[in-house]
Parts: sequence; structure tokens; C-alpha cells
Amino acid sequence: MRIGIGRDLHRLADGRRLVVGGVDLDSPVGAVAHSDGDALLHAIIDAMLGAAGLGDIGEHFPDSDPQYRGADSRDLLRRAAAQLAERKLRVVQIDATVMLEAPKLGPHKQTMREHIASDLGLAPEAVNVKAKTNEGLDAVGRGEAVAAEAVVVIE
Ligand code: MG
Repeated sequence: MRIGIGRDLHRLADGRRLVVGGVDLDSPVGAVAHSDGDALLHAIIDAMLGAAGLGDIGEHFPDSDPQYRGADSRDLLRRAAAQLAERKLRVVQIDATVMLEAPKLGPHKQTMREHIASDLGLAPEAVNVKAKTNEGLDAVGRGEAVAAEAVVVIE
């Protein structure tokens, strides 16, 4: 067994999509990013690569590469899983936290875990998604950013 940790943050701005865990949220602001800016999936991908000793998401899917412009992060997640599979590694369990002031993520957490589980060939019970606000403090609390942290166990 190996463990990896990942985190990500994206600035929020008008007129962008806010995608978290593959769910397109109804929000007046969205993530400023080269890809779809899915902070949750980016944190999970980084944790997977970290557990496998494969560096980080920026090395595998560089934001300077036009092919990843507007990229669907679920596609990047599946590609990261394929990188692990090439080394006979697979994800066993994920625990993650999303930090976002608004909108409320509670109604979407189950869909997010189902997306992640389906992309990684896991049972939904092996993927846990938690959601928090930052109580009005710091950039996340002011609604200026979305952040995520993830821990992934692979074998
Ligand atoms: Mg990111």
C-alpha cells in the first residue's frame, strides 16, 4: 500500500464554469484555469501521482500545452489511472475535502463520488467527498477561490 496527498486551488471569476468533482455547478463565478478548473479532481490526481511516485499533475498535463485547454478533468483522472495501471498500481480508497463558500455542495457530494468512483473503477463507498466553507475567512471564505485536499491509497 502507498499513500499520496494532493491539494489544489483555483481563483474564481465572473463568466467561468465552476466544475467540482465533474459536476457543473450553478454559480455566478467559476474557476480561472487552463482546463475546466476542477480543483477536487486535480487534488485527487496529484495524490494518485504522489502515491505512485510519479511527480505531479503539472508534469503530466502541463497548462502550457494547448491540448489541455478546457480539458475535462474527468478525462485527466482516467488518464492518471491509466498511468498507474501501466505500473500495476490501482487506487483503493480516496478521502477528499472541497473548500468553497458558495454554492452549497451538500446536494452534489453523492454525484461527485459516483463520478470519481466510476472513472477509477471503484465502489462509491471507496470514495469520500466532504465539503466545507471557510467561515467567511481568507480567499476561499470571501468567495474568491475554490480549494480541495485529497488523500489517496493505492496498491
Ligand atoms: Mg488545478
